[in-house]
Amino acid sequence: MGRVLIIGAGGVGTVVAHKVAQNPDVFTDIMIASRTKSKCDNVVKAIGNPNIKTAQVDADNVDELVTLFNDFKPEIVINVALPYQDLTIMEACLKAGVNYLDTANYEPKDVAHFEYSWQWAYKKRFEDAGLTAILGCGFDPGVSGIYTAYAAKHHFDEIQYLDIVDCNAGNHHKAFATNFNPEINIREITQNGRYYENGQWVTTKPLEIHKSLTYPNIGPKDSYLLYHEELESLVKNYPTIKRARFWMTFGQEYLTHLRVIQNIGMARIDEVEYNGVKIVPLQFLKAVLPNPQDLGENYDGETSIGCRIRGIKDGKERTYYVYNNCSHHAAYLETGMQGVSYTTGVPAMIGAMMFLKGLWKKPGVYNVEEFDPDPFMEQLNKQGLPWHEVFDGDLEL
Ligand code: NDP
Repeated sequence: MGRVLIIGAGGVGTVVAHKVAQNPDVFTDIMIASRTKSKCDNVVKAIGNPNIKTAQVDADNVDELVTLFNDFKPEIVINVALPYQDLTIMEACLKAGVNYLDTANYEPKDVAHFEYSWQWAYKKRFEDAGLTAILGCGFDPGVSGIYTAYAAKHHFDEIQYLDIVDCNAGNHHKAFATNFNPEINIREITQNGRYYENGQWVTTKPLEIHKSLTYPNIGPKDSYLLYHEELESLVKNYPTIKRARFWMTFGQEYLTHLRVIQNIGMARIDEVEYNGVKIVPLQFLKAVLPNPQDLGENYDGETSIGCRIRGIKDGKERTYYVYNNCSHHAAYLETGMQGVSYTTGVPAMIGAMMFLKGLWKKPGVYNVEEFDPDPFMEQLNKQGLPWHEVFDGDLEL
């Protein structure tokens, strides 16, 4: 049915490749391309399907991308490289007539700044070209927006309070490691917190607000308010929302390491000179930290990510909690990667499947909640991320 090109062969790219290969009725021709071709070849070896093609590409270079796209002629590109490459890949998609999907919003390399404006600015060009761009189709952003759309469609007349809660109760048995690209992860967590209330954005100091939240099958965990990119599109697409927040759990050991990393300057993203060479401390740190792709083998425990929603249905207040729990070990046995890569890669594959089946096809640039959530929710149950619902429980928030 469809030709797909996956860009990026990291933790998430590896999961996307496994899941795409598991659905040959939808994905008939597959290529995985990345900066380092040997990593793509290793993914293909692990999957054991020699029909998957591989290629080397520098996704910062629009011309190189266009040559690759014209050569392989994919219908859709799944961008699971880094957020820095979003705009070059979108630009190349427009030049070569290819549809687009990603899991993280564009970030400039020199400032850790998260907003959709750069990618939303492409809307008219994608519309005119008759191409679809699906933004933020991982778990959060991604499933968090689809859960919200599903709640709005089936369970609420008006969503008023939205809390996205992201718990990783796994243990990789390392003193300190990040679950996805360390550079991207540390940039995100060390930023000011931000949430939306009564039409305004409220800024907090990094990790200033926290409280204990209870996660299904896990128990209470200290959860910290962060800014997360899907809040920007969700409050725009659901204007009845009075307050929207995002919470993520961190252990004390993780936070202590993070504080030390910041205090000694290793989280800096500006260049410093070392022995006549310019280096970015955070990029150097990434080179010495454990590779998130190698955490899977000894990772136990599970993740639990969901949406806790309060609003009005038929004139009455109601609460709704929809979530998925994902076992790191089960993810590892299936794909060789841990649960954080798994929970990101599976939705990216489903988003591309929705496009190729013609269910999520509309020219322009859209966030996931702007599409019909039902067929996506159905696939989550079939593709390894089953969801559960609690009606009128205590949301704790
Ligand atoms: P990794 O660092 O493991 O993988 C990134 C891959 O992209 C690597 O294979 C890397 O190549 C490749 N790459 C980097 N730069 C280029 C370039 N210029 N040209 C071509 N390839 C390049 O990251 P993850 O797999 O952990 O994360 C992938 C994406 O998923 C990120 O954008 C991240 O923000 C997003 N994400 C989204 C989540 C969600 O829920 N929405 C959650 C977690 C992650 P090389 O191997 O040579 O370095």
